[in-house]
Amino acid sequence: MSDESPEPEAQPTPVTIACGCNYTCKSPEIVPEPRYTLLGTLTLIWGVTARPKAIDFRCAKCGKTIHSARDDKTIREHIH
Ligand SMILES: [Zn+2]
Repeated sequence: MSDESPEPEAQPTPVTIACGCNYTCKSPEIVPEPRYTLLGTLTLIWGVTARPKAIDFRCAKCGKTIHSARDDKTIREHIH
């Protein structure tokens, strides 16, 4: 009798819907975090409002990024 235990995380998943704590984008524990390019980070230091290239949705508990939004609409919703 062979014991073949299937590994749930045998394949890397490109898009994760929930983090290890099972939170999704809708959970308050998931915080949107603008991600800037290197140039964007520099312009932030110079005091220029840079436009993030993506919004990362990160779990405040485990720190895992569960979603990264790159569409114009989502990015605009998270910058002021
Ligand atoms: Zn988590």
